[in-house]
Amino acid sequence: MSTSNYWNSKTELMSRENLEALQLKKLKVLVRWAYNNSPLWKRKLDEVAFKPDGITSLEDIKKIPFLTRKELSQSQSDNPLFGDAMAVTAEQSVRYHQTSGTSGSGPLRILDGWKDWEWGSEMWCYGMYAFGVRETDICLVASGYGNFIGFWLAHYACERLGALTLPTGGMTSQDRINKIMEMGVTVLVSTPTYAIRLAQVANEMGVDLAKDSKVKFLIHAGEPGASIPGTKKMLEDSWGAKVGDFPGMSETGGSTCYECSKQSGGLHILEDHYIQEVIDPRTTENLGYGQRGELVLTSFGRGALPLIRYRTGDLVERVESSFCSCGRTFDLYKGGILGRADDMKLVKGVNIFPSAVEDIVREFNEVSEFQIIIYTEKDIDQVKVKIEPLPEYFPEKNQYLQKIISEKLYNAHRLSFYVEIVEPGALPKFELKSRRLQDLRNKQ
Ligand SMILES: [Zn+2]
Repeated sequence: MSTSNYWNSKTELMSRENLEALQLKKLKVLVRWAYNNSPLWKRKLDEVAFKPDGITSLEDIKKIPFLTRKELSQSQSDNPLFGDAMAVTAEQSVRYHQTSGTSGSGPLRILDGWKDWEWGSEMWCYGMYAFGVRETDICLVASGYGNFIGFWLAHYACERLGALTLPTGGMTSQDRINKIMEMGVTVLVSTPTYAIRLAQVANEMGVDLAKDSKVKFLIHAGEPGASIPGTKKMLEDSWGAKVGDFPGMSETGGSTCYECSKQSGGLHILEDHYIQEVIDPRTTENLGYGQRGELVLTSFGRGALPLIRYRTGDLVERVESSFCSCGRTFDLYKGGILGRADDMKLVKGVNIFPSAVEDIVREFNEVSEFQIIIYTEKDIDQVKVKIEPLPEYFPEKNQYLQKIISEKLYNAHRLSFYVEIVEPGALPKFELKSRRLQDLRNKQ
């Protein structure tokens, strides 16, 4: 098999046996490092009387307690600024960044050394290379280059791949469209929400990105959109490009899984740099292939902030590597990150995933934006989806959209959704991460 399609053919094609041996070796080093350098980890392991030399097989990881976001936040509020989870001091670090703080507990302050930073961009390289990005590409990184780590690492990965890399912090959407056309950009790195926004702005400027631009790859992270079929299709059509999903977390500091050029409908897990478990979020029991549960991460690359059995809150369904035909031996997450455990809403006994609603709504090119609102009326839970059509379809297509989207939502959930068509411009637009779900039930 040719090795030219793999960033790291040595590990990406490794047998499961060798992969597990590698993971075990790395796990021993990580647990020892965490125990000796992170006060929080020393405390956690002492509490359960676990010593680093207690790791003799991969199964032993189950004896280590989970790490939660709440614990990390608590540690920082108890011991400002950085808490006691870090294994390094600010003096030993070269980068500061913070999590986006969308989980309600406020942003987490994180330090990185050079090694962490190099590792984080290396993780992005696996995915971008697997998707087809090469040194001949011209990459535009649509990021504000603020405290949020995600696209910083993507930027460094583009450089590491040898591609010409365009930072665009502070640019308006119009500026970015102009830059894409002027420079012959071939790769856009952004959130899916922002790529939709850029396509709308280009449309207003009279630019047909699919026809006139040279963009062939959209590299997405920050949200699950690129793995939602309806959204993916919409992005592919409006950009005339291949759309790939490369999820990661600020806490891990790098990509955790990636889409390869075969686009199997699953994301390969970076198994040489992580142990990724799937658990039942309620019982915390480990789940097997094909079972939907919460992703728990152990990261081997993050020296500054040791992450062992970190509960991500993300829902995934793991499948074997044979799910994809690319030859990689890394297992996959079918359908990508399926949503957040806390985004799953129960309405009249039916589970509603915002990503499932998004998938249906995005099938319609007439739709510009949408919003899901869950509320209580006369003590009964109701769900409403507000749909904002593009101006050129308003109001002629209102009735059609309302009828067909209602039907599709009903068929997918066996639950009636109230679909309301709103005027163009009525719904909020998002430049970075979207907030399209409102649950008003507890506020009444
Ligand atoms: Zn593959």
